[in-house]
Amino acid sequence: MIPYSKQQIFQKDIFFVNKVLKSNFLSKGPMIIKFENKISKFVEAKYSVTTNSGSSALHLACIALGVKKGDIVWTVPNTFAASANCALLCGANVDFVDIEKDTFNIDVIELEKKLIIAKKKNKLPKLVIPVHHSGQPVEQKKIWKLSKTFNFKILEDASHSLGASHYGEKVGSCRWSDITVFSFHPVKIITTGEGGVITTNSKLYYDKIKQFRENGIIFEKKKFIYKSLHPGYYEHHSPGYNYRMSEISAALGLSQLTRIKQIIRERNKITEEYRKELKSYPVTFQKIRRYNLSSFHLTVIKIDFKKTKKKFNEIFEIFRKKKIFVNLHYMPLHLSPFFKKRGFKKKQFPVAENYSEVALSIPNYPGLKKKEFFLVINII
Ligand SMILES: *Cc1c(COP(=O)(O)O)cnc(C)c1O
Repeated sequence: MIPYSKQQIFQKDIFFVNKVLKSNFLSKGPMIIKFENKISKFVEAKYSVTTNSGSSALHLACIALGVKKGDIVWTVPNTFAASANCALLCGANVDFVDIEKDTFNIDVIELEKKLIIAKKKNKLPKLVIPVHHSGQPVEQKKIWKLSKTFNFKILEDASHSLGASHYGEKVGSCRWSDITVFSFHPVKIITTGEGGVITTNSKLYYDKIKQFRENGIIFEKKKFIYKSLHPGYYEHHSPGYNYRMSEISAALGLSQLTRIKQIIRERNKITEEYRKELKSYPVTFQKIRRYNLSSFHLTVIKIDFKKTKKKFNEIFEIFRKKKIFVNLHYMPLHLSPFFKKRGFKKKQFPVAENYSEVALSIPNYPGLKKKEFFLVINII
């Protein structure tokens, strides 16, 4: 079978994981610290906190940003449920901003329009969660500027975009945001099995994220409210979660991170080859802005159904029958049973809805064989 994306495991990865399995620490050991330091260095942010998933990372980020019951949080409709769940779990109300037709990312003009209306109604969002769709950074500078005018925080859902950059600045540096979150699910750029990481330049957010990742427990002596009673002393300051990554996962991540440049290069190359091969076909690709480097977690084709005889579902099924697991990223989130029950309707975000009727993520991952590549081309 050929999936739309998958992990690539080398002998070196197995060696790293093996070493951890035979060591004293499977949790809370040196690998986590090493991996977090390497991530900080790679994205050029001050702080990194690893987690057991990208979803839990998003949840911790919302907690750190102080998202509470009654707050308003905006994201895009063409995203995974986790981009909204993180805010819902904090008791916030989620609303959406439509995407751009050609980049598949949040439409900054729509965002500004919606902010102007929200300001008049006194219903401005506390937080906006843009998603770097497929690995292409959103218009970070412009969103940052709007956040200063309309006073909202920015949490980047960068699950797709480890290694991507905007005006030469790495996604995750938080130059134009408050917090960034990455996912290490096996289909993403690098994997830890399941896992995620949060990056920020704020010590305040960093401390809060760590506290809530560790069951609300404080291990730092200078933050103790009471006197340290014995060498193993710690303090419970709030409720929290166990959202920690294991040493086994961190070792895999460390090993994978050493190849990131090569992975990004390969994902870009495969997309470029699809573009060349499909030049004369009724399909369009995501527009990549000249100041962006995409990590191409996904390669998406939009099919021009005015020029084909087959319907979307038929094309989907032809691929699936040949064991090529193309997919749609994503069904419009505002039309899920959950959000529909809360009053969201069809035609509310027409660009994202249209996207979901014509877009297919086709196989792109390091190690995709020539034979597999041409099988996909032939079916198209
Ligand atoms: C993968 C993904 C997540 C969450 O990732 P997990 O690590 O699977 O929890 C969140 N948002 C987007 C857009 C994703 O693609």
